[in-house]
Amino acid sequence: MTRQLALLLLLAALPLAGCGKMKEKIPFLKSKAAATPALVVAAAPVATPRPKPAPAAPVRPAIDTNAQVVVLCYHRLEGKAGGGLSIEPALFEKQMEAIKEAGLAVISMQDFLAWRRGEKNIPPKSVLITIDDGYVSGFDVGVPILKKYGFPATFFIYTNFVNSGGKTMTWAQLKKLRDDGFEIGCHTVSHQDLRRKPSKWAGDYESYLKEELETSKKILEDKLGIRCVTIAYPFGLHNAAVHAAVEAAGYEAAFSTYGARLGHGVSPFTLGRYDVTAKMPGTQQVFDVAINFTGMAAPSDGPAMAQDAAVAMITEPMNNTATTDSTPLIKANLASFGEFDPGSVEMRVGSLGLVPAKFDAATQMIEYKVDKALREGSYSVIVTVKVGGQPREARWTFYYNTIGEVPEPAAPVTPATKPVRKPGKK
Ligand SMILES: [Zn+2]
Repeated sequence: MTRQLALLLLLAALPLAGCGKMKEKIPFLKSKAAATPALVVAAAPVATPRPKPAPAAPVRPAIDTNAQVVVLCYHRLEGKAGGGLSIEPALFEKQMEAIKEAGLAVISMQDFLAWRRGEKNIPPKSVLITIDDGYVSGFDVGVPILKKYGFPATFFIYTNFVNSGGKTMTWAQLKKLRDDGFEIGCHTVSHQDLRRKPSKWAGDYESYLKEELETSKKILEDKLGIRCVTIAYPFGLHNAAVHAAVEAAGYEAAFSTYGARLGHGVSPFTLGRYDVTAKMPGTQQVFDVAINFTGMAAPSDGPAMAQDAAVAMITEPMNNTATTDSTPLIKANLASFGEFDPGSVEMRVGSLGLVPAKFDAATQMIEYKVDKALREGSYSVIVTVKVGGQPREARWTFYYNTIGEVPEPAAPVTPATKPVRKPGKK
């Protein structure tokens, strides 16, 4: 049977298979189906009397390895009543509207994973929406808004929290999420720092990681009948030992909370997310940086990048933004470096050289207040640390000028001179 004929038969069978019903349930499938007219076109040659249509090439979609993904992280959608990790429902809706207005594609976790595996393409600027912990407001407030916009989302659940009363989701609600086409990911059993075992844990560190990573996965899979291949680190905290355990437990992707633009080659175990609900000044700015794709790019895991990685982190001033303050406070959270020697931390600022920055090991924040007025121009900031004796580096650029605007590039980039990356190649 030719491929085209198979497609035609498949198309004819779709209404019988209750796909229409499925689309009703999964609103974001609607837009996807509408966006694939190619399927119908591909079937057309069968209707023409041509005897021998050329055999179809082996199916290997062209993957845009230059596409970028930003991941948003929410917790509670309860306004002030939800405390520090909560966002006003109206603001959540406003942000969904902003994503739609910006013409960005909100993709499902499955599409993201398929793109990483080289099996499916995604739009050049794609957004993943994630909601952590398992508060019922994600279900009551989040789902109706997400459905209104036809946006898929992933709920990262820690299993001790489910059915524990109060504002937590029940297993029945999680089943409803699953049936509505939302992704359920893991957020461990007890929501603790995975980098060290808690003093209460009787066994060794290995058994602690096994419990948090494997038991939680098994509980979600058994209770919900799903395959759970994604995890979000509690508090975004992780290190190399955690990555290895996450991989051994069978996860395909693990997310932190250090927002970055994710390219095709980034490590699957340090996928940064923009935490857009933390009640800090600048949260709206974090959202804007995320959806404008102006934040830092996550390091690629290619060997050439290993020694010179620009680590994903939230900085001040943010990457590629301008400040009107001639003596700005330069800040970065270094937690995404993982475990490093706190005595090895250094900050360099373009034209100032090595600066006496203060590093606070408790908060992982490094900061330096510029003490002499800067001249107008661009400044790269480079932070270096040593991890196991090896230098690691993060760098970003900000501008200082009196108008507070990022200057236009002097010469426009001609697309023809840009190197074209071959699909399927990292
Ligand atoms: Zn959490």
